[in-house]
Amino acid sequence: MSGLRPQDRPRRIVIVGGVAGGMSCAARARRLDEHAQIVLLERSDHVSVATCGLPYYLGGEIEDAALLQVQTTRSLRASLDLDVRVRHEVIGLDPERRIVTVRSKAGVGAIAYDALVLSPGALPARPPIPGLDSPRVRTLRTIADVERLRDDLAHGAHRAIVLGGGFIGLEVAEALRGRGLLVTVVELAAHVLPALEPELASRVGREMRRMGIDVRAGVAATGITHRADSDEVALGDGSTLSADIVVASVGVRPDTAVFEHAGVACERGAIVVDAHGRTSVPGIWAVGDAVLSVDAVTGIRAPVPLAGPANRAGRLVADDILRPGEARPIPSPLATAIVRMGGLTVAMTGANHDRLTGQGIEHHTIHLHPNDHAGYFPGARAIHLVVHFRATDGLLLGAQAVGEAGVDKRIDVLATAIRARMSVGDLIDLDLAYSPPYGQAKDAVNLAGMLGEDVLGGSVVLWYPDDLEAVMGSSLLVDVRSAAEFATGHLPGSLNIPHTTLRRRLDELRVAAAGRPVRVLCASGFRSHLAHRVLAQEGFDSATLSGGLITLLDARGPDLERMLVTDGTTRAAA
Ligand SMILES: Cc1cc2nc3c(=O)[nH]c(=O)nc-3n(C[C@H](O)[C@H](O)[C@H](O)COP(=O)(O)OP(=O)(O)OC[C@H]3O[C@@H](n4cnc5c(N)ncnc54)[C@H](O)[C@@H]3O)c2cc1C
Repeated sequence: MSGLRPQDRPRRIVIVGGVAGGMSCAARARRLDEHAQIVLLERSDHVSVATCGLPYYLGGEIEDAALLQVQTTRSLRASLDLDVRVRHEVIGLDPERRIVTVRSKAGVGAIAYDALVLSPGALPARPPIPGLDSPRVRTLRTIADVERLRDDLAHGAHRAIVLGGGFIGLEVAEALRGRGLLVTVVELAAHVLPALEPELASRVGREMRRMGIDVRAGVAATGITHRADSDEVALGDGSTLSADIVVASVGVRPDTAVFEHAGVACERGAIVVDAHGRTSVPGIWAVGDAVLSVDAVTGIRAPVPLAGPANRAGRLVADDILRPGEARPIPSPLATAIVRMGGLTVAMTGANHDRLTGQGIEHHTIHLHPNDHAGYFPGARAIHLVVHFRATDGLLLGAQAVGEAGVDKRIDVLATAIRARMSVGDLIDLDLAYSPPYGQAKDAVNLAGMLGEDVLGGSVVLWYPDDLEAVMGSSLLVDVRSAAEFATGHLPGSLNIPHTTLRRRLDELRVAAAGRPVRVLCASGFRSHLAHRVLAQEGFDSATLSGGLITLLDARGPDLERMLVTDGTTRAAA
């Protein structure tokens, strides 16, 4: 292996933080250099903790806390000859003299470094909610945190309020509900998982309610009152909730104060790094939750607090320290993420509609509901899939999915495609594994490619749930489901022409349209796509509802459901 000449290599590499980024860096550094002294400084009692497993230990699916400790000080010494020092907190940094000040049981001391890697992670954010310092308020970040929560359960806690409906908040809520607690999730944004498209998030909210979790979205927690036997959480809508424990899970902030104070350049607390993880200070690198990332799709500058990017960046930083000039740059993260909620899997990669719009990136969005595997094979389940691609050339920009099966595989394929800078049409050509229990000969991802290419080329024109009011005011709505489906609930004023009868009823449709645009819909968007192609070729100004009534109902919720007409009456009146 090439790289620096032995005499030029850093003799001592000091790493702050012994979990995802720091541990990956240490292990890789050892594999590259057998002779360097690698010192890992960790503030807590443990290194190499499986932080992502904490919610599952809380919920009891992981029964043994020891399983959360992937490595120990001793095993790391034995296998990688790492000098791991737990309960060693870095409290100061002198970049000129290349030393860190460390506080440990033995007192305060100094450790010199040739190369310093910062992977201090993040701390739970503490919003300015009066009463958040109540002794019943918990966070979940460390083994100590999870043990405290388990202790609460052992002492009879049975009502929990989770502040924040992000990934960790949802994992905590699921875990506590699984333990039988009465759980309420309070989320300031309009829906849980704020990064998720609203039409998908509504499914997650419904699943949570089905599980018995009380979801309060679009409302802030405004104060916590500590009482002898419970805490009272006041919400912005005037309501109050009582709980035995309150878990604050409202995001994280980079744990960088010591390093920023020492002159390492930060932006809103996140360490600014270049493509190799180098900070503004020579000889100091940084990775993980503590650093500022530049979003690969939108260019938005913000930390991406996820384990995968931290682990991979740690490895690449070791390369840059020991093989400068040869190390691959750290790619900008796509923030690919996944979470389970009850029977649903929720996953996303790349940008969402709001971020694309906010950044002025013109894009198309498609909605599909393909099966996870062949419909004729038992157990097929719909994957509710949203894909965004650039309007000019079809470059893939983002994808999200919710469903009971097959979601992880599709989002991982799409994440790979985005990383490879594929266009939506390229998805058609992906040779994906297929047999009936696993997929379809045209996989969900291939289907997204086919629809996307048609949209990009203009042969398919879509309309969206947000267009509904305008469409109802200006166009003829044609519902191409069967008469029986139509009778179960349809949009007021819509004309039912089942797609199988469309070709022979074109004259009738032309009269009904009276020169107006025709906006077609069906249950999922498939039959209306077929009908739209007939109409477009017959010269109609036609468009098909993206994702059909399934997406429309998911996007517009109970209000739309009430609007639907069944056998001449609305659903509400029925
Ligand atoms: C409950 C939970 C569940 C999660 N689930 C997922 C998931 O499913 N998927 C996913 O991708 N991500 C998940 N994450 C996020 C993931 O854990 C983090 O993105 C990742 O651990 C970040 O790695 P890091 O090295 O930057 O920081 P960390 O892994 O947090 O490590 C930082 C370490 O540095 C130590 N430290 C900090 N300052 C000092 C100092 N001054 N001196 C010495 N030591 C210091 C800290 O004690 C800590 O141990 C989860 C996070 C939590 C809290």
